[in-house]
Amino acid sequence: MLKYDSYYFQCPNCHAWLEGRDLKAEMVNQSILYSDGKVLNDNLITTPQKMLMCPSCGHVFWIEHPVEPLITYEKPEAEVYSWNTWRFFGISFSNNKGKLALINHYKTILKKSHYEPKNEIYLRRFLWWAYNDLHRNHQHVRLKYLLNGFMSFGVWHENRKMILEGEKLFLKNIKDFNDNLKRLLALLEKHPEEQIDLEVPEIYRELRQFDKAKELLDQMGSRTHFTNEMLRHSKWKDSRVFMVTG
Ligand SMILES: [Zn+2]
Repeated sequence: MLKYDSYYFQCPNCHAWLEGRDLKAEMVNQSILYSDGKVLNDNLITTPQKMLMCPSCGHVFWIEHPVEPLITYEKPEAEVYSWNTWRFFGISFSNNKGKLALINHYKTILKKSHYEPKNEIYLRRFLWWAYNDLHRNHQHVRLKYLLNGFMSFGVWHENRKMILEGEKLFLKNIKDFNDNLKRLLALLEKHPEEQIDLEVPEIYRELRQFDKAKELLDQMGSRTHFTNEMLRHSKWKDSRVFMVTG
């Protein structure tokens, strides 16, 4: 069964055709949710990519409203650039070098121009997630994970090495990480309509302002698994991104 619906759109500069993909709604239940709001399905992020670089001419543009007539669900006759050629700027995440390349990409884009708040929030949120990718799934380094039998020793060992190295890279870049989060927080507090779920208390937690995170979570009327987990991690003074469900 196909998990995605393909759609097609053109680069506004060179008119090359590109393929985009929409995750089918029924697949969302099988996704993994992380505390920073990133959702993965089959290792692929479910949040649509709004800014991209044309794989044909290098033009950077936004696809804000992927609806007809700007896009079509019918495959055009012309040559089409596949989703993989432009998704995350064609960067591969299978190693830390790729993860750092994506971070630098967002940083360069942010420096290049002044963006309206909605777009700057989008870029800073993706930069935040890209930093967290360096040590996402940190729980996998534990021996418990190997003993659960999810991975062979070789795969577990290699993966562990990558995450521990990623953690070091994350800490090396902690100042930039914090600066980005502070700017994102200021934008989100000014534009509450752009906030996603528990993003604001999570940002305080990741900035190690645990009391503020707890205060915001306590103000919420109903308790969910997500709020309970975030409270638990705040109590432990643990600021690392964690898996909520999956
Ligand atoms: Zn182009």
